[in-house]
Amino acid sequence: MNWDYLRLLIIVCLAGFVGLLFGQMVIFMFVATFVYALWLQRSWYQLYSWVKKPKKHLPPSAEGVMNDVCGQIERVRKQNRSRKKKLADYLKRFQATTAALPDAIVVLGDDGLVDWSNAAAADLLGIHWPRDSQVRLASLIQDFEFQQLLSAAVDGGRVIIVSSPIKEDMLLEMKIVRYMKSGRLLIARDITQTVKLQRMRRDFVANVSHELRTPLTVLRGYLETFTQQSPAEQWGAAMPVMRQQAQRMHLMIKDLLELSQLETGEKELCHEDTDIAVLLAAVIEDAKKLEQYHGHKLELDIASKHHLLADVDELRSAVSNLVFNAVKYTPSGTKITVRWCVGENGARIEVNDEGEGIPEHHLERLTERFYRVDSGRSQDAGGTGLGLAIVKHVLQRHGAELKISSEIGVGTQFCCCFPITSIAENDSLQLERE
Ligand code: ADP
Repeated sequence: MNWDYLRLLIIVCLAGFVGLLFGQMVIFMFVATFVYALWLQRSWYQLYSWVKKPKKHLPPSAEGVMNDVCGQIERVRKQNRSRKKKLADYLKRFQATTAALPDAIVVLGDDGLVDWSNAAAADLLGIHWPRDSQVRLASLIQDFEFQQLLSAAVDGGRVIIVSSPIKEDMLLEMKIVRYMKSGRLLIARDITQTVKLQRMRRDFVANVSHELRTPLTVLRGYLETFTQQSPAEQWGAAMPVMRQQAQRMHLMIKDLLELSQLETGEKELCHEDTDIAVLLAAVIEDAKKLEQYHGHKLELDIASKHHLLADVDELRSAVSNLVFNAVKYTPSGTKITVRWCVGENGARIEVNDEGEGIPEHHLERLTERFYRVDSGRSQDAGGTGLGLAIVKHVLQRHGAELKISSEIGVGTQFCCCFPITSIAENDSLQLERE
């Protein structure tokens, strides 16, 4: 039998028994039932208060059904608490994951209001959450194309490329993705570097085609004009030009292949103990054989006996480019000093010339492929426009850096700066002792 009924029965029986002693059994039974009802009512009220404000009130301390109800409520509450915690954990993890994404994500609510955005949205779009919460996205990004994308009824996977609203030179790829019934997500990605690389690749292909077309046009011109019957004098006069143009194409392709090998890292880099004094002396001897070498004063200044850990072939190619340029692009009789020195901050191979100098605005772009200060002069000198790009890559592979400084009327300095760790081991110990 149910405990509540049993309790009521015992109370009523007891009251009836006591009432019997006083000769008032019915009244006693009635009063006992009434008091019991009041007590039950109070317990229900306690239960109600506890359900409403569990932290403020205690559960009723009744046995029976009320106790079972309390237990059941407590179990449901526990389940809810654990479900809530799980959900909060999921939400936290979701927010942490999206916050770590490099792409900007903005969650849009009804009417295009910002509901939430991740950290990248602040860097790419200038949208800060919670500051911009419930602000209209259209008022934060006012680009016309974006407004069209935002107001389109169906997105159809459309992607637009626009400038960032906070950085003019940053290009963003944006799209709006729909989810569930009316939710929308704005996803924006920084594609500045990708676009830059694509443009560089396009420019490179255009430049190579242009550079190769000129000598090819010359060769084709001669070949189309002449026939087998053309007199030998005509062929004889054309031969040097044709040979020069063929040589130009050969040099360009050789440099392009060298550059490509350096860039792709196809060729393994050797770290040999290199006597720089010997290497520089050999380069200077080669420079003296150049067509453009006319009484230049080529001097070698070896201020250190240290050796360098380097790939001899690559280093020789880089230094030759610098010394040959100094001969090719300075007037006859110019003084050129090639210097090797080692200091606390590292080692340096310097090529200093006292030529006309290079205007400052060219300096930053000199190492770009096919960039020339004076295109005509470079071509006359048999230049491919790739020499300094090769130097830059060789040095990068050695952990070194090319620094260029120049002053009009004074001269130019190309400096290959190597880190101290590039000094051959025995030498670096000696350097520490010094
Ligand atoms: P190029 O094959 O044309 O010599 P480089 O990449 O070696 O190509 O050099 C790029 C340009 O830098 C040259 O065309 C030249 O105009 C300029 N240049 C390089 N070295 C010197 C120098 N020592 N003095 C003046 N101009 C130089």
